[in-house]
Amino acid sequence: MAQSLVGAGFAVKGKFTVGSQRVQVVVDLPLFGAFTYLSHFDVIPGQRVTVPFGKRQLCGVAVTGIPPEGLSDSQLKTIDQVFDGLPPLPADFLALTEFAAAYYHYPLGPTLFTALPTGLREARDITPVDERPFGLSELGQASQPPARQRARLALWQALCDGPLTQAQARLVTPQAGKILADWLAEGLVLRVTAEKPALQLGSAPQLNADQQAALDALLAQPGGFQPWLLHGITGSGKTEVYLQRIAHSLAAGQQVLVLVPEINLTPQLVERFIQRFPATRIAVQHSQLAEGERLRNWLDAWQGRADIVIGTRLSVFTPMPRLGLIVVDEEHDGSFKQQDGLRYHARDLAIWRAHRAGLPIILGSATPSLETVANVEAGRYRQLKLSQRAHGAARLPQVRLVDTRRAKLTEGLSDPVIKALAARLERREMSLVFINRRGFAPVLACSDCGWTSGCPRCSTRLVLHLLERKLRCHHCGWEEAVPHACPECGAPDIKPLGEGTQRLESALGRLFPTARILRIDRDTTQRKQAWEEIYRQVHAGEVDMLVGTQMLAKGHDFGTLSLVTVLNADGGLYSADYRASERLFAQLTQVAGRAGRADAPGEVLVQTQWPDHPLYQALVAHDFDGFAASLLQERRQAAFPPSVHQALLRADATELAQATAFLTQIRSQVQNLAAGVLISGPAPALMVRLANRERAQLVLECANRQQLHQFLDQLPPLLDQLARQYGRGLRWSLDVDPQEM
Ligand code: ADP
Ligand code: ZN
Ligand code: ZN
Repeated sequence: MAQSLVGAGFAVKGKFTVGSQRVQVVVDLPLFGAFTYLSHFDVIPGQRVTVPFGKRQLCGVAVTGIPPEGLSDSQLKTIDQVFDGLPPLPADFLALTEFAAAYYHYPLGPTLFTALPTGLREARDITPVDERPFGLSELGQASQPPARQRARLALWQALCDGPLTQAQARLVTPQAGKILADWLAEGLVLRVTAEKPALQLGSAPQLNADQQAALDALLAQPGGFQPWLLHGITGSGKTEVYLQRIAHSLAAGQQVLVLVPEINLTPQLVERFIQRFPATRIAVQHSQLAEGERLRNWLDAWQGRADIVIGTRLSVFTPMPRLGLIVVDEEHDGSFKQQDGLRYHARDLAIWRAHRAGLPIILGSATPSLETVANVEAGRYRQLKLSQRAHGAARLPQVRLVDTRRAKLTEGLSDPVIKALAARLERREMSLVFINRRGFAPVLACSDCGWTSGCPRCSTRLVLHLLERKLRCHHCGWEEAVPHACPECGAPDIKPLGEGTQRLESALGRLFPTARILRIDRDTTQRKQAWEEIYRQVHAGEVDMLVGTQMLAKGHDFGTLSLVTVLNADGGLYSADYRASERLFAQLTQVAGRAGRADAPGEVLVQTQWPDHPLYQALVAHDFDGFAASLLQERRQAAFPPSVHQALLRADATELAQATAFLTQIRSQVQNLAAGVLISGPAPALMVRLANRERAQLVLECANRQQLHQFLDQLPPLLDQLARQYGRGLRWSLDVDPQEM
């Protein structure tokens, strides 16, 4: 199959001759548009080629598209080589990358190369080893056995008994390779596709009533495009519902794509999938796989040998000819959005892919994103709810708030928290201490009256820039001096929110000198196998306190915990980033979900200055729906996503002033093109300085997505043109549907 699809079965070397065709080719360079080349042979869109580009030879991919008029042959260069070890990249893969390039306003070449595994980005041919056995064709079966040679006759007779792999044939005769190649050319033998092993199902639990109702609804869907939100509290058995729904797709001969947010979560999930589908080939896709393995898995999915693909955001591009179902687990998770280069959102691309292919897609979460909630409200997605924990007796943890305005604090820790930790330590039970270390841009707050530094011009909060003693709005650019006392009540005690992480960590060590404390954060989980070691220690009972940041808020399995404490989450309540409270609620729900066992409900203690805040009240009541509804309402009033569509135009330079000047200039250039689009800024980015560069941004907003995109379409050439005047030091980028400001 692999070899036969392609017409030009050889490498093309040489100069152009009359009668060449013209082909549109993209390369991995940040240039918009495809380039026109001449070719002596038929080149099909999706074929990989090498082309001369400037002084270099580059790997390119032929794409659909009509060559522009008005170019003479003498202006064009000629394709050097056509790689035909693999069939052309399939049309739906090209369509997805074309859509991604258009939607994220990113050049098609780099988009397409982002979607490919590294092995296919390089200018060399890939010829997968054809492992299919050889069998006699009809012609072969009707032919006389070869008479002249013993080796040939022996091989022939062996084939009469049934198909042989190359290795098996070599056991019959060492010359098998040559003989089989001859017979293949004569049509006497062919490659037979080995029978796939029949689907096997490992043992599955009996579904509870909620799960069964969800599965029934999924299976009752008549087919075609349908997004589902599987909204289930932590531990409600969402994964079990995926597995049982997936079993039906596999039984129907379809492939299934499963997207997960975290590389570190894939081993756990893959293990569960292997147990459930022991005879099914599962192809894993994530950025930490060795290059060769990633490529092999990609080809297995594309060529239909693997029926399940499990992977992180990049796997959304994996070609799957028999795709029948997509699952996006923890759909709210921020890591589905890529933060550089092609700034795509894998969940959103997965929806597009399901739509184009006419497939069901299941988004699962305990705390769905507001975008998804809004889509359910609008009737575009259907919602399925799992409202009990899967284990019959398990209950949701009890959440209690500890008011730190009244409590006596010892090194930042309140008495109830210290007592609860000490009690667990005594009973040798493991506790989890969640410290919110996320770099929430600091916002000023008054601990007496609750005042926070809001922007007078828009509904965001001003960020404290300590060095310059300024408060700044990152949205519209407003700036003012830091007040010395609370503007509301006059209290002198106004401080930035969410400080003191390091202090809390060392305080735990001093307060509990005998406790075995295991820290989990970006640093301690960098090493390969770090997670295996963490799991080993945790499950071997070698840990008394797990201390960590948002890494703990993902779906890791730490067994059962009876206590979770949350120490400094307040920074997420009043943040300059309007998404902060949505994220904080999701994180706290996840960490709280780690507590609770079959026999006793777990306990969650949250230390806060704002115990009356609606976020904490909703957390105590386990009321996601109520909280989401109030957030959506707020977003509508403030005209923030998802009620409007947003894009950021970012610029960075060694000096903020230069980035700001660039944005000011482009803003005045395009103002008259921006019908219906609100442009705010330039303003410094929330993280102004990053890798020795300073960043500023314009916020572009419009209630109508199409209108916004029509505007964005016009920007890249103008931006490129203006950027040239600023020289190499200035870089710009567009971020469509930004997740971080
Ligand atoms: P979620 O994906 O919602 O976090 P899981 O599917 O991982 O939930 O289920 C949580 C735990 O409950 C797992 O240990 C799982 O094996 C178990 N479980 C799920 N469904 C059932 C069921 N119907 N009966 C018994 N145990 C179940
Ligand atoms: Zn005050
Ligand atoms: Zn503002």
